[in-house]
Amino acid sequence: MRPFEYFRPSSLADAAQLGAVSGAKYIAGGTNLVDLMKLGVEQPDRVVDLRDVLEQEIQELEDGSIRIGAGVRNTDLASHPLIRRQYPAMSRAIVAGASGQIRNVATTGGNLLQRTRCVYFQDVSRPCNKRAPGTGCPALESGGLSRGLAIFRTSEECIATHPSDLAVALVAFDAELALWRDGQERRLPLEQLYTSQESAPGRETILEPGEIITAVHLPAPVDGRRSHYVKVRDRASFAFSLVSVAAAVELDGDTVRGVRIALGGVASRPWRARSAEQAIQGAPATSANFSRAIRDELTTAVPTADNRFKLALAHNLVVSTLEELI
Ligand SMILES: Cc1cc2nc3c(=O)[nH]c(=O)nc-3n(C[C@H](O)[C@H](O)[C@H](O)COP(=O)(O)OP(=O)(O)OC[C@H]3O[C@@H](n4cnc5c(N)ncnc54)[C@H](O)[C@@H]3O)c2cc1C
Repeated sequence: MRPFEYFRPSSLADAAQLGAVSGAKYIAGGTNLVDLMKLGVEQPDRVVDLRDVLEQEIQELEDGSIRIGAGVRNTDLASHPLIRRQYPAMSRAIVAGASGQIRNVATTGGNLLQRTRCVYFQDVSRPCNKRAPGTGCPALESGGLSRGLAIFRTSEECIATHPSDLAVALVAFDAELALWRDGQERRLPLEQLYTSQESAPGRETILEPGEIITAVHLPAPVDGRRSHYVKVRDRASFAFSLVSVAAAVELDGDTVRGVRIALGGVASRPWRARSAEQAIQGAPATSANFSRAIRDELTTAVPTADNRFKLALAHNLVVSTLEELI
């Protein structure tokens, strides 16, 4: 590991100032950053510890929405009664990731900013357009390992997927981030945090230098909504998703009044299946309608020979999850 400076500020203002310098990285739980530093993928000159400045509470606000401090540990979020009761897909998404020990340390903000698990990104002896722009992408070459990678392309240079399970569930619920910089908090829909990667796969989010995620806001729960998260992976636990789905449904009799579908393991960011949602909303809640809608959504996917199986997997997973919800 390379030497680096370490700071542990006691105010957000100090943290933001220390973190705005080129070569600085924030650390929260450290479960991703430290691993990447050991691999040589991340080489910060300065590490700014956020543990004394991040909010640690989960609060229900007057309008029924929920504010989750960015410092809330994954275990505490998954097990909170409000989350388990009103947003079960979120609880399930968190528990489907990592291990108990890691979830006890990992934070809400760090989870959303964890970096891809693409093997080429993590192996500094190999080229990688995300880690070292312009060096190439072995996953896109013939014989490259792309089984776990994206089927929806947001870049010609990189098909890495975003690994967070929590982010998929939060995007399905239209969560917003509270971001802090220059003494001010701004709000940003989580879906807009992740860049399209079209021109620069190395730049994964639109965060400005020094900007800190201080909280996540969940809109108030909707009466009668049911939600679920299902993740398919190579092992039953301790593995990242091949495909996952977060779905939520409200019914009016046999008709779908509202539906939300987000997919994980298929793109550089959580993939909100908006065209499928539009096709399902207002229509009878039948398997045939679900199947047609997600099939149409998947027509824009561009799989590799190695991950073509994700098309059928995503289709079947969405249909079975919606069937279970109704
Ligand atoms: C073996 C293993 C298996 C795993 N399996 C899964 C899995 O199946 N599914 C899954 O979703 N995750 C999985 N994870 C990832 C785990 O969930 C993340 O490592 C964890 O959530 C990151 O949170 P952290 O607080 O430790 O982040 P850190 O490592 O501290 O930080 C991660 C990144 O976020 C930045 N950052 C952190 N907090 C903030 C903030 N508030 N504002 C701005 N920037 C910030 C840091 O600079 C860094 O770039 C796994 C991890 C391991 C080690």
